[in-house]
Amino acid sequence: MESQKKFPRTFSCEFFPPKTPEGAEKLARVREALTAGMQPAFFSVTFGAGGSTQQGTLDTVLAIQAAGQEAAPHLSCIGSTRDSVRALLERYRAAGVRRIVALRGDMPSGMREAGEFRHANELVAFIREVTGDHFHIEVAAYPEFHPQAPNAFRDLENFRRKVQAGADSAITQYFYSLEAYLHFVDDCEGMGLDLPIVPGIMPITNHTQLARFSDACGAEIPRWIRKRLEAYGDDRAAIQAFGEAVVSDLCRDLLEAGAPGLHFYTMNRAEPTLAIWRNLA
Ligand code: FAD
Repeated sequence: MESQKKFPRTFSCEFFPPKTPEGAEKLARVREALTAGMQPAFFSVTFGAGGSTQQGTLDTVLAIQAAGQEAAPHLSCIGSTRDSVRALLERYRAAGVRRIVALRGDMPSGMREAGEFRHANELVAFIREVTGDHFHIEVAAYPEFHPQAPNAFRDLENFRRKVQAGADSAITQYFYSLEAYLHFVDDCEGMGLDLPIVPGIMPITNHTQLARFSDACGAEIPRWIRKRLEAYGDDRAAIQAFGEAVVSDLCRDLLEAGAPGLHFYTMNRAEPTLAIWRNLA
């Protein structure tokens, strides 16, 4: 973990693009509450598989920038062409965006054409090729390994490809095992990778939703957490109190170990993230 301690800490929040004008208004209030409560360095905005939320992502990014805050659009390349990515990069550059989360993404069901990019390292290389050093490029990291990786070491090698292609920093998939993160960072250090690897933090507020996400993305919910969440049943207040305590402890341990910040998967809600934040004060 030594390499991580030299980086300034960055605290950031993630949103997904709202689908309706009411959702956009609500998200503006969430953003204001998060800004007042924790002043995140930037708000990142997800990008639907295959570009399905392209306009929504752009609109949300523009709204954040217009409010005087830094926005970081996610950009997934699967199913895209070089021309379409170049055009999007130009729009972001014209809007004053300086940070991009560069991803492969997942093929939407029913979509056959993989497009002109196969993996995120190709997207990172392309962004550098066409925009030089304009953007700070974030990439995804997987302390519990990507579900499609043939094995852990190949996944680490593939992570190295993204870094060597020009990534500036990484944000991890969420996890609830401190050790998974510490080992991942140690492996990266062992490979000579020198970039901030910021833990992605998923507040726990809803057991069914968390179980569904975790199955899909390969994040493990430790048995003791799962069993307790199951036992709480429909008692939302108990789930939230337990989740807040567990995730606050994780965040505290991560920062004490030297993590260079935290990236909160807010699910477009302010309070679960702010509750954890207050516990860290
Ligand atoms: P890659 O880095 O390309 O890795 C994908 C798989 O391919 C891995 O198994 C890797 O080992 C392997 N691989 C990588 N490079 C190579 C190579 N050169 N040769 C052979 N194998 C290789 N999804 C969205 O749709 N929209 C979002 O906005 C979004 N935001 C995210 C934000 C974060 C912080 C994270 C952690 C994930 C996000 N995702 C998002 C999910 C992500 O798109 C999926 O996890 C996707 O399956 C992988 O994307 P990647 O960029 O990590 O891919």
